[in-house]
Amino acid sequence: MVLTVLKCFNKTLMKPPFLPIWKRRFLSTEKLDDKLHCCKILVVGGGTGGCAVAAKFAKNFIKCDIIVLEPSDIHYYQPSYSLIGAGVTTLRNSLKPTIAALPENVTWFKDSAEFFCPFECSVVTKTKKIIKYEYMVISTGMEFDFDKIKGLKEALDKYDNVVTIASPQYAEKTYCGLNKFSCGIAVFTHPKELSKYNSLNMCFLAEHYWRMNGKLCGTKIFYLTAACEIFPVNKYATSVNKLVKKKNIVACLERNLIEINPKDKTATFEEVQNPKERSCMKYDFLHVTPPMKPVEAIKKSKEISNEHGFVDVNKGTLQHNTFQNIFALGDCASLPTSKTVFATNAQAIVVHKNLTSYMTGRKLKACYDGYAASPIITGYGTCILAEYDYKLHSKETLPIRQERESKFAYYIRKDLLPKLYWNWLLTGKYPRTAGFGKLFSWYKKK
Ligand SMILES: Cc1cc2nc3c(=O)[nH]c(=O)nc-3n(C[C@H](O)[C@H](O)[C@H](O)COP(=O)(O)OP(=O)(O)OC[C@H]3O[C@@H](n4cnc5c(N)ncnc54)[C@H](O)[C@@H]3O)c2cc1C
Repeated sequence: MVLTVLKCFNKTLMKPPFLPIWKRRFLSTEKLDDKLHCCKILVVGGGTGGCAVAAKFAKNFIKCDIIVLEPSDIHYYQPSYSLIGAGVTTLRNSLKPTIAALPENVTWFKDSAEFFCPFECSVVTKTKKIIKYEYMVISTGMEFDFDKIKGLKEALDKYDNVVTIASPQYAEKTYCGLNKFSCGIAVFTHPKELSKYNSLNMCFLAEHYWRMNGKLCGTKIFYLTAACEIFPVNKYATSVNKLVKKKNIVACLERNLIEINPKDKTATFEEVQNPKERSCMKYDFLHVTPPMKPVEAIKKSKEISNEHGFVDVNKGTLQHNTFQNIFALGDCASLPTSKTVFATNAQAIVVHKNLTSYMTGRKLKACYDGYAASPIITGYGTCILAEYDYKLHSKETLPIRQERESKFAYYIRKDLLPKLYWNWLLTGKYPRTAGFGKLFSWYKKK
């Protein structure tokens, strides 16, 4: 043990001279014993945010300085799930092995965080290993809470007419469900809790699919959401409401799905304002967006989480409100904005800048303004590209009227964004998109 520590120390002194002092390694990923591992930067979660941040730091550090703690062997491009559900793409085209998604110059630790000990600067893993860090970035995402809706899991596993695009396990089943549906009542739901995707996408895609296949005659489509508006930003909500009307979709607000009885084909909803008020609805096809919940390890590590179980960070700097050497981004962070890939990318840029400043004792200057991009797919070939900030002001990138349906936006969503994701975002090269918006704003005003 003593020998190993000495080895670590020697290696530190022998660092290449071109690395500035703050980038040098004072701890090593080498095992001090079977249970204890050390690193300079620990990235917890190797999904969208974890990969993007790790890739940015990997350029200036050596392999054993950065540990990415990630349990999954596969990295999924989650925004593809709605297009998988609509039969436009396949699951195969939307994943990569984690080893290929992670930057080369980092150490992948295949395990998951079980408990965070921020006072000791360490994380205990599921297999009871301890990882000590100097700085930590958390990006563990959110989990689906299938059990919160009574009967949902059984219905998804056993019945063809109850579907969801929420997870890779069920996304392909959704397309089978669309095909098997002949006519009747089709219901699409959106939960009360935070969600990381827009259920409207699947509702619009299904309507278009059935229209193309002559199945709309004798069909009534309902969209029941627990939210109090159809979309949080007025500019886009106006267009979405018009489309809902045009497509004869019945939208009901403030209705929260609580139970499914797949044998009787009934779904029970509670009124959000008055939960005792319940209503039952018959369905022939049901697409559910399950509620989401924070990751258990964060929720139970009370020192780092807020009362809702999200990592308690400053919404501008993304630095932890108590522990300055901890930063968080993505779905697990306590940020009052939409949980999307390009929100996470904008946050990765801020985390990289601010953590670098913190390491060198400089002031944290980068500030995240809540930027989120949330494309609403309105059919096979059309899309509204919604982009906005914390204040729900639009923050657009393209020289087009983004609140209108467009083929160009659909092409971007379907073909361009996945390429940008794999080749630019995960490799830490992707710039902050909203920056282009300023370039085009003069054109839009014309
Ligand atoms: C169905 C669906 C559709 C979506 N559609 C869109 C869309 O159209 N546009 C858009 O921009 N975004 C969309 N999103 C959201 C987007 O994918 C997420 O916001 C984004 O991936 C968040 O990145 P993240 O790093 O926070 O989380 P993730 O990318 O989910 O990564 C979290 C990682 O942490 C790991 N992890 C979990 N627990 C632990 C633990 N205890 N210890 C260590 N690691 C752990 C997980 O294995 C995972 O790899 C969609 C998501 C879903 C599910």
